[in-house]
Formats: sequence, structure tokens, C-alpha cells
Amino acid sequence: YHQRSASVVQTLSLTGTNGVSDIHIETGLLGRAAAAMLDVFSPSRAHIVTDSTVAPLYLEALERQFSFPVSHTVIPAGEEYKRLATVETVYHDMLAAGMTRKDLVIALGGGVVGDITGFAAATFLRGLALCQIPTTLLAQVDSSVGGKTGVDLAEGKNLVGAFYQPRLVLIDPAVLVTLPDATFADGMAEVVKYGYIANKGILDLVALPDYKARIGDIIYECVKIKRDVVAIDEHDTGLRMILNFGHTIGHAAEKLGHYTDLTHGRAVAIGMVAAMRLSALLGNQDLTAPLTKLLQHIGLPTALTYDREAIYTALLSDKKKFGATVNFILVREAGRAEITPIDAETLHEYILKL
Ligand code: NAD
Ligand code: MG
Repeated sequence: YHQRSASVVQTLSLTGTNGVSDIHIETGLLGRAAAAMLDVFSPSRAHIVTDSTVAPLYLEALERQFSFPVSHTVIPAGEEYKRLATVETVYHDMLAAGMTRKDLVIALGGGVVGDITGFAAATFLRGLALCQIPTTLLAQVDSSVGGKTGVDLAEGKNLVGAFYQPRLVLIDPAVLVTLPDATFADGMAEVVKYGYIANKGILDLVALPDYKARIGDIIYECVKIKRDVVAIDEHDTGLRMILNFGHTIGHAAEKLGHYTDLTHGRAVAIGMVAAMRLSALLGNQDLTAPLTKLLQHIGLPTALTYDREAIYTALLSDKKKFGATVNFILVREAGRAEITPIDAETLHEYILKL
């Protein structure tokens, strides 16, 4: 992941209801993270939350930069630990460390760590300053930006949470070097999603044989889209839905695979191809072939192998709250998408044709 413009700091800012989020993207930024934090915070101590995979890789490199006391919680890696009991552990560790309302909480990890830590920061003593240091591609382009935090319940994912903007997001593309290829590819599914909904230039970068060398630029373009969408619809009541391209059928496939056969990124890849085919059936430009080619270039699956009737049933149960219509994100042309309500009957007819 050698970045062409290695020393250039790229900065974006987002104004949410609980204040401004500054987002910095720079190769090697983890090594200068404390200095970046002290530009905007003046805490007397900090508490870092990370997981058992990330801790041995990056925790010490971060901790040694501070001249004030720093404590940490290392949670076991994995989505199954994104639950209230883990948040409670974080609260207890913060109390034991003497954290007060003036202190700083740091999330160092992927989306699971980010969501748990964000929720803990939003709720501990009714809210502490938060810095996100995302370490997976998915967390860098998606979950660390936008202020959604929370945990899963036995009944389903992300059922408890809060909107809480981090004051600072520090994105270092260099940490992706340790990421397993399959986890990197999962994040690339979201990258392709951003390209199709809002910026064709991202698709051109991803199509390059050495797109990994341009990952810093790719991340910047994706975060810019997420920032723009969240700035308009922070609380997810309208436009933010556009970020769900590929996720409607993707979620249905994830569910049919009992959340074990397909990772989220792979399900989104399959879901985007299916949504694109559906879009073509509804009379839009058929972009299925270029999308399929790009996903294959990244190493992501494209074929929807589940029974169409089962997909339809899973899809409706997921979207029950919307009544008789399902909001579909249809790509009109590469780089431009629209939220389109489709009634259940029409949807059924077209899903059977996929
Ligand atoms: P994750 O946090 O589980 O990370 C995936 C794996 O990679 C973990 O095992 C982790 O330990 C490991 N890892 C992390 N960084 C690494 C590195 N640099 N090198 C090597 N290994 C590393 O999963 P994820 O895909 O990052 O995030 C998924 C979660 O994000 C889900 O819970 C999802 O609900 C959530 N999410 C939240 C939002 C939001 O807006 N808040 C958006 C999208 C997804
Ligand atoms: Mg997603």
C-alpha cells in the first residue's frame, strides 16, 4: 500500500448535531496520532479500546506517544462480542482508570471496535470526547465516519445504539498492510458501492491493475461521499439510504446464509449485481457487465445462488416497516443513483426474473 502522495495529509470535516468531526487521512498517521489528538483535545488521560487481533499489531505504537496516563481495554475480536456485556467491561475499565468527563476515548480497530467504543463514549458519564482510528478498509471508508454507534442483541444486529459524532477520525492507510486479503476485499465492496452511487472516478481507480497503491486516494474519495451524505441526513431519515446500494438483496443473502456463508462485503457484492440486473429489467442502462468485471478484478463473488422465492421472502421480512413498498437504490448511470420505491408485487415479479 505505498501511496503515491505519501506525505500529503487529506482533511475533511463534518458538522453534526454534537459538533464538528475532523477527518484526517495520511499514510503513517498512526505514528503521529497523539500529536493530531492534542491539536484538538486537552485531556488529562485517555482510554483506548481495541481488539485481540489489533492490540499486538498497533496498541503499543499508539500508547507510547502520550505523555499523560493511558489505559486500555482489549476485547476479543469478532462480531459476537459486539454486545452490551462488552460495553459494560469498557465502562468498568474506564472507571477503574479514573476517567472523567474531560477525558478522551480512543477506538483503535475495525467496525466492531468502532461501534462498541463509540457507544461507550456516547453513554459513559453521558458522553466523552471520542477519537476513531479505524484499522480495516471497511471502517476507514464507512463505519468510522457518520456517527452511528451501537451493539447487537440476540434478536438482531445494531438494535441498540446512538448517533454520536467522533471529534476526530484518524485514517492511516498503512495499517491495512496487515489485513487479510479477504477482509480487504470485503471493504472494497463498499468502495465499489460509493463509485456507482456517486463518483465514477472511484471506479476508474479501482479498475487499475495496481489499485492498492492508490488506496489513500480511493479512501479519501469514499469518505468525501459519506461525509456529504451524512451532512444532509445525519439521522438516516432519507438520503442516507442511498448508501444501501447492494445492501437490500445483500442482507437477504446474508440472512439466507445464516450470517456464516457470506461475509457482509461478499453479500454486498452479490447484492449490487442483483440490484443492477433489477435496475436493467426496470428499463435503466444495463451496467451489470462492467460491475461484474470490476468485482471479479477485486476477487469478490457476483452470482446470487439462493432461491429467488426465498430471497423475496427474506427481503420483505427485513423491510416490513416500510409496508407494501421496498425502497430500492437504482443506479441510473455509473456515479449516479436514486432511491426508488418499488411495490411488493412488482418486486416479486422482477426478483423471480433475476
Ligand atoms: P471487524 O471490526 O470485526 O474487523 C474484521 C477483522 O479484522 C477482525 O478480526 C479484526 O480484529 C481484524 N483487524 C482489524 N484491523 C486489522 C488490521 N489492521 N490488521 C489485521 N487485522 C485487523 O469488522 P469490520 O468489517 O471492520 O466492521 C464490521 C462491523 O462494522 C459490523 O459490526 C458492522 O455492523 C459495523 N458497521 C458499522 C457502520 C457504522 O456506520 N457505524 C457502518 C458499516 C458497518
Ligand atoms: Mg455495508
